[in-house]
Amino acid sequence: MTTLLKNTLGKDPQLSPLSLWKHFSAICAIPHPSGHEQGIIDYATNLASGLGLKISKDHVGNLFITKPPTNGNEDGDIIMLQCHMDMVPQANANKKHNFTTDPIIPIIDNGWIRADETTLGADNGIAVAAVFALLEDRTIQHGPLRVLLTVEEESRMHGALELKTDFFDADIMINLDSENIDEIYIACAGAVGTTASLDLTFEHISPDEYNFHTLAIKGLEGGHSGVDIILHRGNAIKILGTALAELQKCNKINLIDCNGGSLWNAIPRESSANFAIKRSADIECEFRKINQKLKNDYAKTDPDLQITFKAAPQVSEVMNKACTEKIINAINTCPNGFFKMSDDLPDVVETSSNLGVMSISDGKIILKSMQRSLIDKERDIIQHKIISAMHSTGFNTHSGTSFPGWIPKSHSPIVEKSKKVYTALFKKIPKIMAIHAGLECGIIGKKHPQMEMISIGPTMKFPHSPKEKVNIKSVEQFWNLLLAMIDE
Ligand SMILES: [Zn+2]
Repeated sequence: MTTLLKNTLGKDPQLSPLSLWKHFSAICAIPHPSGHEQGIIDYATNLASGLGLKISKDHVGNLFITKPPTNGNEDGDIIMLQCHMDMVPQANANKKHNFTTDPIIPIIDNGWIRADETTLGADNGIAVAAVFALLEDRTIQHGPLRVLLTVEEESRMHGALELKTDFFDADIMINLDSENIDEIYIACAGAVGTTASLDLTFEHISPDEYNFHTLAIKGLEGGHSGVDIILHRGNAIKILGTALAELQKCNKINLIDCNGGSLWNAIPRESSANFAIKRSADIECEFRKINQKLKNDYAKTDPDLQITFKAAPQVSEVMNKACTEKIINAINTCPNGFFKMSDDLPDVVETSSNLGVMSISDGKIILKSMQRSLIDKERDIIQHKIISAMHSTGFNTHSGTSFPGWIPKSHSPIVEKSKKVYTALFKKIPKIMAIHAGLECGIIGKKHPQMEMISIGPTMKFPHSPKEKVNIKSVEQFWNLLLAMIDE
């Protein structure tokens, strides 16, 4: 049974605390995709001013709110609660939804809340609603309290990157953007993007002397380039590179075009290349061998891998052999996958890279990769390796904005306190975790290096997709954990 409710979550008796759900309901009604946070900014500003709380806004729209300590709690550490105001706008293909004007419709569904074929924005709207409820509540005991709300986290970490050091102050930051109530995060990976490019050089051929083929890779599992990199799943661009290099060993080919992947931060699932080869070459037999070998290599991680080989349209202009060779070498020499596990945290990847996109435009081929590490130095070392590999094959490179990682401090006072509070509250021990992906903690922590941090959040599934849902019970647990953490 599902109940379709138009923003009445704040009145539904099965939801607790109602104060939090009331604000979440209001947040759903205010469009707030990345870059369009003004409605939430106005809502927060009205709320804080109405409560007589000091609120400031910086040049990009980040908000900082101060709530004075309750009586007798003046001497405690300054605790800052931090979350982002924007959401990822995704709707099912058949759903008409304008994220800058239409409200999100929350639906109660078997212990979870989801939206009507769109992202819900529980990431990070539940956290925003929780801090609003906290600011409003005059019965909760706490020390000096701060709230930092950022803009454009989902699209480009813009709010966090633009934060000025003197805009906020805190001894402890509790980031509210993780996605499992059983886990407390104490580290995240930083990242940097690397773009490699090569000007293509073409030559004319007599089409009658050549055969033309398309080689396509499909059916890979893909996944998040950070979180899923440990699974050793096939990368469609790398697999294409392997297949082309094998073909190249026996008979030199001339590439016509090639492409693969579409996002920096996703493991590419599909790729393809068109090429020409002299008529005399027996390539079918070669292809069958390659196909068999690659299918065996990826049988465990990507059982649905398909490698297809078929005739392509004739052309009279192809990339010359030197250019073809450079591209195949670049794909194959580019270091990729996971390189090192964390020394401090069991089962957590420390450093990785994902070759995410291969595309051709304006006479250039472009290879985009993203390097991640918990440790900034390691992120830079792997980026330098990739840059060297690309230069050695004749490509130029360009480095994008880098995001710092958040280094684990397994026994910091706030980590110890959170474990104690959590265990007392839920009668079980939380999992202490690091995520091999970006959280704003890495960036914000660099601005106040002495600040201790943890990250917590209610349980969510499928964030950033129209299947996004948040577990109702975990929201109440999250609220209780939050209150316990700020109670000195
Ligand atoms: Zn988030």
